Amino acid sequence: MRIDLHTHSLASDGTDTPADLVRAANVAGLDVVALTDHDAMSGWDEAAQAADEVGITLVPGLEISTKYDHRGVHLLAYLPDPTHPSLVAALDRILAGRTARTPAIVDALRRHGIAITEDDVRREAGGSVAAGRPHVADALVRLGVATDRTQAFTDLLSPGGPGYADRYAAPLEEMIPIVTDAGGVTVIAHPWGRNGRVVLDVDALAHLKDLGLAGIEVDHQDHSPADRSELRGIAADLDLVVTGSSDHHGLGKVDHDLGVHTTDPEQYERLVSLASSA
Ligand code: AMP
Ligand code: FE
Ligand code: FE
Ligand code: ZN
Repeated sequence: MRIDLHTHSLASDGTDTPADLVRAANVAGLDVVALTDHDAMSGWDEAAQAADEVGITLVPGLEISTKYDHRGVHLLAYLPDPTHPSLVAALDRILAGRTARTPAIVDALRRHGIAITEDDVRREAGGSVAAGRPHVADALVRLGVATDRTQAFTDLLSPGGPGYADRYAAPLEEMIPIVTDAGGVTVIAHPWGRNGRVVLDVDALAHLKDLGLAGIEVDHQDHSPADRSELRGIAADLDLVVTGSSDHHGLGKVDHDLGVHTTDPEQYERLVSLASSA
């Protein structure tokens, strides 16, 4: 069984429709794929229908923008009830923060001498409810200002860059119980990517487990082999589920092909059994 528990579609900042993503997962030889768009569940229905058609298992999920100790943490949530009022309210607040940030980024870039408009970004964001910096990056590429998303981030959109603007993220310690309450299970995405180990050390992870955290994503392109073996040891000590995933974004991120990392079937079974909706 090949299991990939972290992918993005056009519902956030991936480049495939949810149905195309599921079909690509089937072609890549996956048996189970989770759709985990940033702060959005709007791709679930289309993905589920495609999964039925091709005969693979879809795990409905999302990757929630949270904050812990003043740092951004991405929280994967699987199998929550999409109508749960506190979850819906929390996501609405995050999405409103995304929507409000776009004009702030556009203003900052214009002050920097780049003739970009909100419409340019809206066009790239298309059907996504979760407007984000990758869509701004795509607009910059189309305008000929950057060659690809990575360069747009490096030169303009990363913290400290001339086109950076902050946005609201939900407190991680509130979000874990909300997802659990909604019947879902939580896994911290790439906990040690981008210097995350500073904040997510073993004591922090133990504390988050006490709040209901089910697992950590260990096998991910943002982790070195040394990070992975250290995180695997921490997960064993704390009895956390270990996952591995691609964090596929279609053409939006290189070296994140579907199935590039996968989750052990036993770990997957354990994760699913912790979801009260399962
Ligand atoms: P946002 O959620 O709008 O703040 O944008 C963050 C998203 O941008 C992440 O989920 C990644 O998909 C993408 N991203 C972050 N850094 C980079 C980078 N250096 N190059 C390409 N994409 C990036
Ligand atoms: Fe992303
Ligand atoms: Fe992430
Ligand atoms: Zn992701």
